[in-house]
Amino acid sequence: MAAANKNEAHDDHEWGLCKDCEYWQIEPKAKVADGTLGLCIHDELEHFNLRVSGQSGCNHFKPGEPKRAEGSSEAPPRAAAVH
Ligand code: SF4
Repeated sequence: MAAANKNEAHDDHEWGLCKDCEYWQIEPKAKVADGTLGLCIHDELEHFNLRVSGQSGCNHFKPGEPKRAEGSSEAPPRAAAVH
């Protein structure tokens, strides 16, 4: 029998990398790369003002192109989410 998974509620979501996720928001001219920093604009994570690199990831991943806005990579990010 498998051990209890405290993340069970998220098991129906796909885990993936920020650089391949449509909720990743980066600077207007930034490269889509492992070391690029950007803001996560997922509806459930946006209020954390979470700055993540291209090689970060989570199980709210959705494949797509990153959004772009000035200030997305600052610490803390100052860009508004582009939806
Ligand atoms: S933290 Fe998760 S939802 Fe946010 S950009 Fe990265 S993979 Fe997407």
